[in-house]
Parts: sequence; structure tokens; C-alpha cells
Amino acid sequence: MNTLQLSKGREASLLRHHPWVFSGAVARVTGNPTPGSTVQVVAADGKPLGWAAYSPESQIRARMWAFNAIVGDNFQVDAANIASRVQRALQRRQHLLGERRTAIRLIYAESDDLPGLIVDRYGDYLSCQFLSVGAEFWRDTIIAALNEHSPNRGIYERSDVTVRKHEGLESRKGLISGEEPAEFITINEADRLLDVSITEGHKTGYYLDQYDNRSLVQQLCTQAGRPLKVLNCFSYTGGFGIAALKGGAEHVTNVDSSGPALELAGRNLELNGFDPDQAELVQANVFDYLRDLKQQSGSRYDMIILDPPKFAETKHQFKRASRAYKDIALQAGALLNPGGWLVSFSCSGAIDPPLFQKITADALLDAGRQGRITHHLHQSSDHPVALPFPEALYLKGLVCHVD
Ligand code: SAH
Repeated sequence: MNTLQLSKGREASLLRHHPWVFSGAVARVTGNPTPGSTVQVVAADGKPLGWAAYSPESQIRARMWAFNAIVGDNFQVDAANIASRVQRALQRRQHLLGERRTAIRLIYAESDDLPGLIVDRYGDYLSCQFLSVGAEFWRDTIIAALNEHSPNRGIYERSDVTVRKHEGLESRKGLISGEEPAEFITINEADRLLDVSITEGHKTGYYLDQYDNRSLVQQLCTQAGRPLKVLNCFSYTGGFGIAALKGGAEHVTNVDSSGPALELAGRNLELNGFDPDQAELVQANVFDYLRDLKQQSGSRYDMIILDPPKFAETKHQFKRASRAYKDIALQAGALLNPGGWLVSFSCSGAIDPPLFQKITADALLDAGRQGRITHHLHQSSDHPVALPFPEALYLKGLVCHVD
């Protein structure tokens, strides 16, 4: 067996079952492991710690498959073991899927003991990303297990993402098995219908992580007991806007910089039977748009949703990202009617929940608004956080009710 030996004192995180071995912690690699193949990981004193997928090009030099402390000393990473991980991940979500929920994250990487693998279901199709050489190594096994345990009409690959470069992998996109998906697949999320483009959409097609939060927005609009005017910033294909209208909102403005996303947002309004007068689609940079609105007197909203892309890709960018989050929340704060809601999100892992709360508090203070947090939000339950791997928690949000 090829072996990866850690430097002295670098085993602490593995003893806590954290799944990553960084390059700086590696003393030596013996044998000649190929990318993605399994290495035995041992401490500086030779004590066996576990088995991992070896990634020679990545800063994350190995991703753990199993720990001796959990599985004993005679464990083997083989196809049967990988297939059973796929099956268990599917079983964990089984109760969530149904007629009223036809799209879901089936496999969420490290949190499902399958580092680097993302699999989402959209109706009859699966859309997946292989983001590590370890996942890539077991690709055929994973596909066979998905076809066996998660019946589908087709599996499409959306590994057309830059993170693959860090692993020494090429970008890849296309049909893996079954039938080519239609241009749009209609999904049902809690009776909200959405057309999703698996082949051209962002990520695997749609932002499934906001499922619970879209339902909450719908509920807030219903409970308000009056028709709300909603501004949905960074709307993508309008998921939050549909939720607001379903909840009884009077009018929604969807703002996004992407033309194709807004076109799809228009289709989605039609699909749910909403009158075109109830919604506006604005192609703009949200930063500029909010500033322009502030200049115009009279534009005020009862709810403003801010769901921007990741502003901080790395920890080093957190200051700049903090300023950007604060900027949009400040502008939004000034545009809210008394008794309105700010629903603000960050999907940057480098911004932790306490920092995000501080940024939001500072923004509303500078906007001259007082209020209170009514909901602390995070990613939906099909994106769980494995206890030893807090990095899996990336999406956080706050609902603030302002005076
Ligand atoms: N709220 C969406 C997901 C938003 S993803 C949902 O529930 O599905 C972030 C979106 O922000 C993307 O659609 C992207 O096109 C858009 N975007 C990125 N930068 C932007 C900017 N400066 N102004 C407007 N939209 C932007």
C-alpha cells in the first residue's frame, strides 16, 4: 500500500476526523500513488490513521475516505464501499422527495463521506460534479451506483468549474448516461414550479440550497397579512420571487445581471400562472441599481432579498467581501418601508455567521434603521454539515424586521 506520512504533530485534525490533509502537513509519500488512488495515512511515529484519496497537485493533498479509529485496521476502500456510500446518501434524503419536491441535492461531498462529489436530482435527471481526483478515480463506480439506486432518465455532468484545476483536472461537461435532457426541466419545489436548464444553468442548474429559505419567504409574505412589494436582488431565475408571489406578494422586481437567467425568470412566472404585471425583470448590476433607486424618491419596498454570489472566494478576500455585503445591505436598508423585511444572505465560507451578523447590523445602523433579527438562516437540510467538517456550512442568512 502507498503511504502518506504526516509531519510531527500534524495529526490533530485527523484525530478529530476532519477529512482534509494539507500539503504542508505531509512529511513524505512512499510508493508511487497515482492521482486519486488510495494511500494509507500514518502519523509521524508510523501510527496508522486512515485511508485517503491522494491528490498530488492540490493544496488539499489527500481527502480521507476512512479512519482507523472508526472502521478498524482491516478496512479497504473498494468499489463496494464507495457504492454503499452513494446508497446511504440517497437513503438519507428519501423521505424528503415526493410529488411536491422533485429536485434535491442527493450527494453533498464531504458531508456524505464522498469528498468532492456533488449530485443533484432535477425531476427525472441527475446533474453531477466531480470536483476532486478522488471522486474522479471512482467515477464509473459512482455512476453505476447512481443508476442502480436512483432511477433516472439521464445523468449529466457539470464539472465545468475552475476548482477542478486545483486538482489537476480538466473542465468537463456533457451527458454521462441515459438520454440528453431537454432544454428545460420543470421541477416542483413545494408547489412552486421552476424551469431549470441542467445544461446551461449555474452550478448543476439551480440553487437548491435556498429551498427552505424560499419557503420561509413565501410564509413571511403570507403571514404579513397585506400584499407586499418585494425587491428580489440577484434573482437568478426568480425562485424567491415566485415564492413571494405564491405567498400573496403584490409585486416583485427581480434584478440580475444575467440576461438568460432573467429570461428563465419570465418563463417561471408564466409557468406558475402569474400575471406579467405582477413582476418586473430588470437586467442590472445590483450595486448600481440600488444606488439609482435611492436617488429616485418614492421607490420603497416591504421586503428586500439580497442573495449575491460568493464575494469572498478565499479567506484573504474577506475584508473586501465584507464591504460589498455591507454596501448592498446599507442601500437596501434605506429603501425599506417601516415594518419591512431585509432578507440577506452570504454564501462565502470565509464570512462566518457572527461576522455576517455584525456586517448586517453595521449596515442597518449606517442606513439609520432600527430593527431586530427574526430568523437566522442557513442552507437547506439536503446540504447537511458533517460534524467534523464545519467548512460544509457556507450559506448563512438573516431576516431583519425593521421599524
Ligand atoms: N437567489 C437565486 C440565486 C442567486 S445566485 C436563487 O434563489 O435561485 C447569484 C446571482 O447573482 C446570479 O444569478 C448572478 O447572475 C447574479 N449576479 C452576480 N453579480 C451580480 C451583480 N453585480 N448584479 C446583479 N446580479 C449579479
